[in-house]
Formats: sequence, structure tokens, C-alpha cells
Amino acid sequence: MTQITIPADSPFGLANLPYGVFSTPGTAPRVGVRVADTVVDLAAALGDDVFARPSLNAFMAQGRERWVEVRERLLDLVTGDVPGTAVHPVGTVTMHLPFEVADYVDFYASEHHASNLGRLFRPDSEPLMPNWKHLPVGYHGRAGTVVASGTDIVRPSGQRKAPDEAAPSHGPSRRLDIEAEVGFVVGTGSALGGTVGTDEFDRHVFGAVLVNDWSARDIQAWEYVPLGPFLGKSFATSISPWVVPLLALEAARVATPPQDPEPLPYLREKNPWGLDLDLVVEWNGQVVSRPPYREMYWSPAQMLAHMTVNGASARTGDLFASGTVSGPAKDQRGAFIELTWGGREPVEVNGEPRTFLEDGDEVVISATAPGAAGTRIGFGEVRGRVLPAVS
Ligand code: MN
Repeated sequence: MTQITIPADSPFGLANLPYGVFSTPGTAPRVGVRVADTVVDLAAALGDDVFARPSLNAFMAQGRERWVEVRERLLDLVTGDVPGTAVHPVGTVTMHLPFEVADYVDFYASEHHASNLGRLFRPDSEPLMPNWKHLPVGYHGRAGTVVASGTDIVRPSGQRKAPDEAAPSHGPSRRLDIEAEVGFVVGTGSALGGTVGTDEFDRHVFGAVLVNDWSARDIQAWEYVPLGPFLGKSFATSISPWVVPLLALEAARVATPPQDPEPLPYLREKNPWGLDLDLVVEWNGQVVSRPPYREMYWSPAQMLAHMTVNGASARTGDLFASGTVSGPAKDQRGAFIELTWGGREPVEVNGEPRTFLEDGDEVVISATAPGAAGTRIGFGEVRGRVLPAVS
């Protein structure tokens, strides 16, 4: 038997208890929970086969009562004696994609980001489109290319046409960028033809991860009218390995910014799901931005209500991401196209002026949030390195 030492200031203390999928050398991936600097093997510790699987989907599909029950059992387990064979130092495990991604949707919920991108992509029009304050704008992305943190990102090639070029050409993206986002994972789905109200959010959504929505801005700018993002984003989306349960985010709930005009009834919230998360973006080890999630105009409960208002079903493993998190200040922008204003205002990274990503660059996005009883909880990180394009 082992007792896990949990320092009072650990971002992975009892207020957090995020779930992931891990393996140790020579063993199959299975579900674990992060406690301080250890990973607890839940199949071994609780003797329940639902955790012996290589994804969280089966457990998530069991529903909220079960999520609450397991969280209570975990609190008892990790504050007492844990079977020694179930406890692994975090440095000895490999983390995998934590769930099988069903459908993937990406929203555009930051007013600061949407306004900045509007100014950059459409300098002669209003920064926000007329629909933006009436509905959470989003698009369906490519679930099959959502990858685990640490997966290398091969620079995409595609069609690009700069405004001053007469014709498009094909080649490696010259404006490869990141988008620092938060993603929400559906645990229990909804019926085709049904809807999910804003007050049903916590019955359906299991937890949250960090997302890097890698974006090739030159490919995006040429292809996106009139149907939206396509190959400029579908080549890879990275997510963090730890799914922070919604049950751990109660202390992080805040009001969303004032919504004016008042949204239609199906988008209204009695108790809003704004979240007070602090993101940090590191470029080759240097902090370049601190995006504040609390600034997001639309809440994730409003996103899910909107996604299903037409009768589209949600299902276990659906991932919907918030869109780039950007605050009002320049050093709070969650994409390099905003941070460098379209590449015209380079930022200094380790003493060099930089605009978009170069081969070999590494980006790490991390986040923390208020936890229960005055603690702070951590999301860990989502990490990715750019490899040269395939020639
Ligand atoms: Mn995005």
C-alpha cells in the first residue's frame, strides 16, 4: 500500500482529479487519474473494467450520477492507502489521446478575437458580422485529426494566394499559426430530433481540455469564402491529455460578459457557465501571451444549446472547442496572427523578431483555474512542435 503525498499547492490536488489515458512500458493504454505527481491506475485501484479501456468513452457514457459517485470514491481512495501497483510517478508514464473523438466542432466565441480577425481579413467592413452577437458562430471540423499533446505537427501544404499575387500556387504554408482554446467533451449524448437546453449542460458535458487549433492562415484566407474553414485547419488539432471534470470547475464559474442584445430564449442562462480560466501561451519556451477565458462572450452551455437547437444529436466523445481565447490587451491574444497583427508587428521570441511559426518551433499552452476551498487547479498543457512540410 502507498500513501500519495499531495502538496497543498499542487495544481493536481483533491480539488481537481482529472482523468486521462496512460500506459507504462510494455502495457496497454488504460484510464488513470492524476493526483499530485502520480497517475493512479483506476482499473487496478477500483477493480472496474470500465477503466481498463484505452479511452474514457465508456465511463463518460455512464452519466453524471456515476461521475459524481466515482469522484467521491476517488477522494476516499487517494486520501487513504492505494495499492502500490496502481500508483505510477507521472514521469514514468506515456499519455495518450484521452477519449475517442466523435464529432468535432469549433466555435468563435471571443469578441476580441472575432473583432481582430474581422479587421485583419476584411479591413473594409464592420469587424463583427451581423449574426455574431445573436448566435455562437462555429463550424464542423475534422475529428479524425485531433491528436494527443506531444504529437509533432507536419507543416501543411495547400493552395495559397496572397492579395498581391495574380494566381494561386501550391506549397507549404508560409503563415502557420496557433489558436489557444478550451475544448468541452460530451459525456452523454442527446437524441436525434431533441435539444439540450442551457440548464442541461452539466448533465451532458463531462469535462474540459486545452486545445491548439493549428491554422494555416494563407490556406485559410484563400479558401474560406463562402463555406468557412476547411484545409487550413483540418490537418491537425492538438488536445491536452488530462480531462478536467466539470465537477472540478464549480469554483471557476463566473458570469459571461454582458450580452447585448439579449440572446433568444434558447440561449439564455439563469446561472451562466462563464469560466475564470487563465491560459498561458509559450513559444519556444518564452511566454508570449496570457489569454483570459473569462472574457469569452458565449458560454459553453450556450454553445451546446446552439449545436443541438436544430435537432442534431450530440454523442459521447463529441468535442466542441471555444474558438481562440483572446482578451482586450495585446499580450492576451491567443493567436499569432493577432499578436503580430497579420505578421506586420513581429514579437520578440528569445531575442529574435518572429511572426508565424518556423520549422522546429514548439508551442505549449497551459491553464489554471480557481478550485474548491481557495485552491488552484491545473489543466496541464498541450504541446506541439512543427516539422518541415513533406516535399
Ligand atoms: Mn479555432
